[in-house]
Amino acid sequence: MLPAVSATWRHVEEMVREVVESFGYAEIRLPLLEYTDLFRRSIGEVTDIVEKEMYTFEDRNGESLTLRPEATAGVVRAGITNGLLYNQRQKLWTAGPMFRYEKPQQGRYRQFHQVDVEALGFEGPDVDAELILMCRRIWQKLNVSRVALEINSLGNAETRRAYRKELVDYFTAAKDQLDEDSVRRLEQNPLRILDSKNPDMQEIVSGAPVMLDYLDDDSARHFEELKSLLDAAELSYTVNPRLVRGLDYYNRTVFEWVTDALGSQGAVCSGGRYDGLVELLGGRPVPAIGWAMGVERLVALFEISGNSAARRDPDVYIVAVGSAAERRGFQLLDTLRDAMPAVRFETNLGGGSFKVQLKRADKSGAAYALILGDTEVRDNCAGLKPLRSGEDQVSVPFDRLFTVLTQRLNQISANLPAT
Ligand code: ATP
Ligand code: MG
Repeated sequence: MLPAVSATWRHVEEMVREVVESFGYAEIRLPLLEYTDLFRRSIGEVTDIVEKEMYTFEDRNGESLTLRPEATAGVVRAGITNGLLYNQRQKLWTAGPMFRYEKPQQGRYRQFHQVDVEALGFEGPDVDAELILMCRRIWQKLNVSRVALEINSLGNAETRRAYRKELVDYFTAAKDQLDEDSVRRLEQNPLRILDSKNPDMQEIVSGAPVMLDYLDDDSARHFEELKSLLDAAELSYTVNPRLVRGLDYYNRTVFEWVTDALGSQGAVCSGGRYDGLVELLGGRPVPAIGWAMGVERLVALFEISGNSAARRDPDVYIVAVGSAAERRGFQLLDTLRDAMPAVRFETNLGGGSFKVQLKRADKSGAAYALILGDTEVRDNCAGLKPLRSGEDQVSVPFDRLFTVLTQRLNQISANLPAT
């Protein structure tokens, strides 16, 4: 990520962090490597991720390790091993690179980045709504448009068993229309057929029985309450009964924020409830829900929506010609940095004539050049040359530099559009 891009990334990440922390979620930082077994058990054997997307290798000790393809498993593992989930509730977030061996294309990379939010110990549906509304606030803060919410409920394990049977019957009857992946899934993970991205499969998929018709009473009530909370917040959504999500551990609420602005990589944020995962990984039962947002896609959306993050140029560029001026410049600058910690000073490095240094100053984008030569050192004053306006260069005594610079730079920031 080159500097021209990282400024936008940093802006986007900062805005997301501000929103997430304003909801009282605390940061947890996780290792990039985990034992392979953690992902096999949590994400599930018959999923795209575990079947074909993980970067797995043996370390020198013969242990199988995997570069994390997602963050939830690691959060739960860390929560269990550190006793965070014992009679406690946790509202956590984390962010960083994830790794999946996918076919690289626009919006789909082998190292990509997620922001991940997890609420552990909450049954919902209030927290489900909170997590979804948090996303809306992120879109608002980043001035991102063209995102829409889809929700569904996967019910509980029993619901899924009953539904699974119906689905197997349905797809078995139409087996000759299934693609290779789906035939394999028919035995092992028929729900995932609904998640197929093969256009030729869409017709048969859209005729399949609908999970929502099989929901148990508690899950149905949970889903109704979630919807009424979203209604109360005037957040519109579509119930998409085909939304099953690609990981095994989800139950009840699942959701996805999708966009039509990024071609076929339309999922910007995906989440859901995983009430069984903590127990599956060896803890006590803890209801939980989380979401993961793809940062590459969020940044793309941020830009497509017409936004940009201004790169901050230096405020003042120090031009110092001759060894006496260089020395005095260094000394002076250190004092100025102490006095004006918010100001961005850049120093000319490696000498050069006035002409060369002023050229560099101009190219740096700085608002002012602060100029020192033999004469200035002798007279205890510096030249202050505005680089972005037609104002004249003035001579400022060293002991007035703080005052004058403060005044000039305040004028500039007063004229900047508010961000
Ligand atoms: P998709 O259907 O696009 O493959 P997914 O269901 O595999 O997404 P999740 O595992 O839910 O995605 O990850 C959450 C979010 O991370 C996605 O909504 C997406 O924004 C982003 N994401 C997932 N895989 C990639 C990738 N390879 N490159 C960039 N972003 C990704
Ligand atoms: Mg995927």
